[in-house]
This record gives sequence, structure tokens and C-alpha cells, in this order.
Amino acid sequence: MRGILRRALAYADRVFQLKRWWKRVRDSRRQPQIPTEVFPAVLVMMFLCRLRSFHELEQYRDLVAWRCWLGPAKDRRMPCADEIAYVSERIDLATLRDVLAHLYTRLMRNKVLQRMRGWRVAAVDGHEIGSSYKRCCEECLTRNVEVKGGKRIQYYHRIVVLQLLGETVRLLLDAELVKKGEDEVGAAKRMIERVLHRFPRSFDILTGDALYAQAPVLRLLRRHNKHAVMVLKDEHRDLLIDAEALFRQQQPRIVGEGPTTFQQWDVEGFTSWTGLEHPVRVVRSVESTPVRERDGKQWTHSVQIHNWTWVTTLSQKQVPTSSVVRFGHARWQIENQGFNEIVTSWHADHSFHHHPNSIVALWLILFIAHAVFHCFVTRNLKPQLRQNHTIIFWALQIAACFRLDYWWPPPI
Ligand SMILES: [Zn+2]
Repeated sequence: MRGILRRALAYADRVFQLKRWWKRVRDSRRQPQIPTEVFPAVLVMMFLCRLRSFHELEQYRDLVAWRCWLGPAKDRRMPCADEIAYVSERIDLATLRDVLAHLYTRLMRNKVLQRMRGWRVAAVDGHEIGSSYKRCCEECLTRNVEVKGGKRIQYYHRIVVLQLLGETVRLLLDAELVKKGEDEVGAAKRMIERVLHRFPRSFDILTGDALYAQAPVLRLLRRHNKHAVMVLKDEHRDLLIDAEALFRQQQPRIVGEGPTTFQQWDVEGFTSWTGLEHPVRVVRSVESTPVRERDGKQWTHSVQIHNWTWVTTLSQKQVPTSSVVRFGHARWQIENQGFNEIVTSWHADHSFHHHPNSIVALWLILFIAHAVFHCFVTRNLKPQLRQNHTIIFWALQIAACFRLDYWWPPPI
């Protein structure tokens, strides 16, 4: 395991030619002392080794690993925390998105991004970063919070992310910061437009929570010949009441999958949604799973029931009910393998540097590190090595190699 960091970086360079692609990243400094390509290279290493801040990164400036990864030239020295923060404010996001586009193309060509029941599925969701009563910037969103002694203004940022879903590798493709005066859906629409303009075939179906079940989002998707599977909640009360009335007249389709029993209802042709020209279909799934829980010295048995309703633009001819339920549940991948993972294991819950450009730049570089790490673990490590260990085990091995400066062979 000693050389696993070197192996992971060599893999990144061999498969994704990252060193060549860093040369295309630009920033707006006037007289750069350190070439721009050094910064994304340093930050990818920071994320791969799960460091928490630029200052933690600065503690490891003298490692052999840096000289090996950045090259021996004098101007390729490891920058300090202030230099990294300064450049992250000025880095060109479009050029970072070019690197992600290159990763996407490689993964598509190598058939790593798989279809789900014959369809390419993506998920969109938002996440909040670093709320504070004191630290703020020009682009901070604000809200009034009740605290002891009255109301206080809280500053925070919100970011929307689009993730391509699959069975093994899931690519976090793009991120967009919610601007002042707009809502999450406004930022998501801007990101979806950009993704569809650049990668028209990246997905066929977009899934999201109830917030995205809005006519402008569905209209945008249909304009690009894409479909939506969104959670349906009380915001569309009329549609929900209409659907429930029809569900009562229909016998549910009952299917079993593992210990869970699904009761599914499916009605299409609803035209009552204001502002939407396309008829929509509503699918309901009531899922019962027997649960055995320990309560002190006794075991209790109960049945856990979940009730889900989705609205979709897909017709019954195109996709059967079970697939709509599958796509609807796939949305959890962005929660579990997306936000949950990058927040708990990659320390993305705080802003490494509080500046709107830095926040997005750091998230885009994190997406690159995330893709490299998962491709390396699932596609490069031998199955015999992989099967006995968890993903987090490999992450800790890479981090340990970095911290102990295990690098072989040592540079001359
Ligand atoms: Zn801010």
C-alpha cells in the first residue's frame, strides 16, 4: 500500500492526462510568479488526501510528493495558503469546466457512465455552504434568524449541483452558485441550460425533489427533448387531488423486490398544470418493508411504510411504472453518494476560502478529484485487493501515504 498515492496520481495522469489539461486552466493575475497549472494540481492532491484547509495543506509544503507531482522546475514550487486563496479568487471557471468536460468525454468513450434501464439519468439538487453571522462577501445570501435577544442576519451560500447517475461511477458534472435575489431553481435552470448546450447527450431524464417540480424547469427540459421525474408534494395540490381521485378507482400493481413490497399506481394525461403545455403522468408507490429492531433486551418487529409520488413527462408507452419508481429513487444517489460523501469525507461543508469564485472553483476541482478517486478504486485496483476493503479504507491509505510522505522511487 506504500505507493498507493503515487499509483493514484500516475493513473490520473495516464488515463485523464491531467497534467496536460492543467495547462489550459487560466487565471486573471497580471504577473504570475507560479504558473496557473500548479494550483489545480495542488488542490486535486489536497482533496485526494482529504485535507481540511489551505493552512493544513501549507503544513506539508516540504514533502517529496510535491516535487514528484509538480515537477522539478523552480517556478513549480508549492504555493503558500495565501497564494492559493488569491489565485482561487481569479481562476477562470470556464477553463475548469473544460477539464470536467474532458473527464466526461473520457468516461463516456470508455463506457464507464452506464445507462439505467436503457436511459441516461441525472439528478439535480442544492446544498448550503458555510452559514455565518460574521463572515460575509458581496454575493452572500442573507436570512433573518431568531436568536436570544432578537433577530440576527445570517450569511450563507447555496450551490446547485448536477450529477450523472450510474451503478458504479457517478460523475459530478457541474455546479452553480445561487446569486443574490434569485432562488435555487433559477440557478439550476442556468446550469441545466449550460450542461445541455455543452453535452446534449449527457442525460435523457432529470430527477429532482419537489422544489424542481415547476413548469419552467419541465418546459426547459422538454424544449431540449429531455424528460423529468420529480417528487410531487403539496405545492401542486390540484394535480395531487386529481391524481388521488383516479388512484382510488385503480387497482394497484403489486410487486416485490427483496423484503420490500411495492404497491404502484400510475395515471397519465393530466393537463391541469398551469403554464405547462405537455400532459404529465403521476406515479405513486407505497413501499412496505418489515423491520426488526433491538429495543433494550427485546427485539421488536414492525413494518416501515414509505409513500412516494412522482410527476413525470415520460408516457406509459416509453417507460413502465417500475422504471419511473427506479428513476425517482435514483435521486437519492445525489444525496448519499453526492453531497453526503463530499461533505463528510471530502470536507466540502465549509468554504475553503470565502469568495464566490473560490467556492465554485474549489467544488469543480473537488469533482475532478472525486471522479479520479472513484475511477481509480473501482477500475484500477485489482478485484482481489478491492473486495476485502471499503472505499474509505482506500481513501485513508492515500491520505496516510501523503502525510507520511511515502513516495517511491524518491526523486533525484
Ligand atoms: Zn459570501
